[in-house]
Amino acid sequence: MHNPMLANGSYMTDELRMFQETARRFMETEVAPHVARWDEEGCVDRELWTKAGELGLVCPSIPEEYGGGGGNFAFEKVLIEEQAKVGCSAWGLSLHAGIVAHYILAYGTEAQKQAWLPKLCSGELVGAIAMTEPGTGSDLQSVRTTAIADGDDYVINGQKVFITNGQQAGLVIVVAKTNPDEKAKGVSLVVVETDKVEGFRRGRNLEKVGMHGQDTSELFFENVRIPRSNLLGAGEGMGFVQLMQQLPQERLIVALAGVAAIELALDQTTQYVKDRKAFGKRVIDFQNTRFKLAEARTEASLARVFIERCTELLLQQKLDAVTAAMAKYWVTDKQFEIIDLCLQLHGGYGYMDEYPISRMWRDSRVQRIYGGTNEIMKELIGRFL
Ligand SMILES: Cc1cc2nc3c(=O)[nH]c(=O)nc-3n(C[C@H](O)[C@H](O)[C@H](O)COP(=O)(O)OP(=O)(O)OC[C@H]3O[C@@H](n4cnc5c(N)ncnc54)[C@H](O)[C@@H]3O)c2cc1C
Repeated sequence: MHNPMLANGSYMTDELRMFQETARRFMETEVAPHVARWDEEGCVDRELWTKAGELGLVCPSIPEEYGGGGGNFAFEKVLIEEQAKVGCSAWGLSLHAGIVAHYILAYGTEAQKQAWLPKLCSGELVGAIAMTEPGTGSDLQSVRTTAIADGDDYVINGQKVFITNGQQAGLVIVVAKTNPDEKAKGVSLVVVETDKVEGFRRGRNLEKVGMHGQDTSELFFENVRIPRSNLLGAGEGMGFVQLMQQLPQERLIVALAGVAAIELALDQTTQYVKDRKAFGKRVIDFQNTRFKLAEARTEASLARVFIERCTELLLQQKLDAVTAAMAKYWVTDKQFEIIDLCLQLHGGYGYMDEYPISRMWRDSRVQRIYGGTNEIMKELIGRFL
């Protein structure tokens, strides 16, 4: 369907267009054929990371001097959209490249950046960020994992849960209390290279409603010693502020995937209702179908315009936490609502795994939960009314 709202944003360049073509080809040839198998295996192939790294598709927005592509966030956006277009929720690339690598870039010392970023960019290391614990998710100030200074080391003890890339991660940014007596001011970010430490253990690759190919895992830390030089930032107690500063980009990443999923679901559903017949007519010939799809298309266009504006603001370093929270909550609520409608319009086939809409429906549910729940988004927006 012609939709001028889908026109590229003001940030589109020839270089970005070429990158988009490379990303699209890669997703079509190296990702799409394996989505169903990864769903069964609970993990993407480890080589996917290095294959993508060789083509410059991992960390395109990290500076070239650290092994990245030297581009801006628009390059990450392209990857998120192209991955969503092939219906793949398994690959935690956007978290690795758009979030984990950016913590290191923003807060790492020169030595930390030199040590970790090239390996994250090549796919040699997979990144994860471990905030959530069994006892606390939204209330991050209450994490119980500790990183206590002991000579030249920190000793980490605690448990994390629901960690994306948990089975494959070789570098984990751990949210821990360096001062357990404090709330937010006691929180620090420390980096654990999983192959270099003792006492680190991966727990279960958790079974979930959707995103079956994503290795969302438990992680355990028992007297894990890391050098004190693995602290991110100028000093202890900066973790909470660092987390808050990165939130707009993280939330925009979730919302971008949401808009792309809405558009894909609507394209597939429109085709389906044109092909499917009931009562001697095509399903699209029922006014109800047309009205529902007309409403959904309109909302998809609103979401697209909003998200493009957010992208432009982020590129100008002007995207604030409130606007990003609006985008995350509204788009992901709409994503679930519209994909549910799309499933309904498929009838019984929508509930069958042979149609991609069933996977999209399962995968979309979590978008309202992670990256900060949508209730927390409204709390944040409400505070600034
Ligand atoms: C597939 C998946 C992948 C994930 N990946 C990661 C990851 O890579 N790293 C990571 O650290 N975490 C990850 N998470 C965890 C995710 O970020 C948390 O689940 C989320 O932040 C919510 O925390 P919680 O589960 O502890 O829920 P809780 O905080 O216990 O919330 C329970 C309910 O209470 C509501 N609530 C809580 N506080 C308030 C409030 N103040 N006002 C109103 N309502 C409130 C919530 O909105 C929710 O509805 C992932 C989760 C999933 C499911």
